[in-house]
Amino acid sequence: MLPFDSLVRSTILAMTPYSCARDEFKGREASVFLDANENPYNMPFNRYPDPLQEELKGKLSTIKGVPAKNIFLGNGSDEAIDLVFRIFCEPRLDNVVAIAPTYGMYSVCAEINDVEYRAVPLNNDFTLNADRLLAATDEHTKVIWLCSPNNPTGNALDRKEIERVLTAFQGIVVIDEAYSDFNDLRPFRHDLDRFPNIIVLNTFSKLWASAAIRLGMAFASEDIIALFNKIKYPYNINQLTQQQALKMLDELQRINQWRMTLLNERRNLLPAFAELPICRAVYPTDANFFLARMTDANSIYHYLVDHGIVVRNRSRVQLCGNCLRITIGTPQENNALLGALRQYK
Ligand SMILES: *Cc1c(COP(=O)(O)O)cnc(C)c1O
Repeated sequence: MLPFDSLVRSTILAMTPYSCARDEFKGREASVFLDANENPYNMPFNRYPDPLQEELKGKLSTIKGVPAKNIFLGNGSDEAIDLVFRIFCEPRLDNVVAIAPTYGMYSVCAEINDVEYRAVPLNNDFTLNADRLLAATDEHTKVIWLCSPNNPTGNALDRKEIERVLTAFQGIVVIDEAYSDFNDLRPFRHDLDRFPNIIVLNTFSKLWASAAIRLGMAFASEDIIALFNKIKYPYNINQLTQQQALKMLDELQRINQWRMTLLNERRNLLPAFAELPICRAVYPTDANFFLARMTDANSIYHYLVDHGIVVRNRSRVQLCGNCLRITIGTPQENNALLGALRQYK
């Protein structure tokens, strides 16, 4: 990995972060808070929330097996994605390299930040070719974006190929593991010590069934976490979100039950879906969704909408011609989908 001074934007390295009242007073207990111009009435919503979410990170640390000092929490993974560009990429000068097809937010954030985005196609079977990815990098490539299991293809990328990228590339590698709870592969968040240049993303939006509260996680070295904390909005995770997240973390049994139900549904739905005459291929999945190649994705998509069922039409995405991306739902929802498609003419 390159030294930090050459990886991080010089303005970000040099700047002084905003110092908020809750940063300045820390440690000892106090009972009278006259430091933040808050209104003393309307407890508990009158107080600014913990800017570093220490209680939440403490609990997450145990569940995820990552020390709290290696965790950043963002307003969805989307915040962490945007911050990566703002920390490392000099607009109009630096570039990033990413697999294609993949999650759309990486290229959107690149564009917003005026950073060149180099999309490198996966193989036709959606596997990763590390060499092709590395060949697209140059001395201005600061970040490589990987997503595993990948959205919208559903497959996890081969660990050996990912490790080749991690060891050969001198910059930052983001591995978005939003769907790692839906397979038994070893998540990269356990390898922060081996690979100091990785940033691993997780989210509350998928298995933890909390997309509404907007909470994403980034796992990385202490140095990288310090940069995230330096430039984030001071109170980026609101109090309601922190409270609700803590509540969810007390419900791990329920969450694991959902996981087993969804994996069981996935096991049943895939072969049944593959047997539909209008389905050409169902691609292997390690996530809570799958990609299917259809005879005519556009008309099947609209047919389903007419029957009150919404799937994701990915047919205009690179390598995904005539493909629909389908989320695993409840048994009833999955049956409704199959029932409707069996009637399709
Ligand atoms: C759904 C998803 C996320 C989650 O984003 P949030 O902002 O945390 O809701 C992140 N990455 C990928 C690849 C996803 O598909």
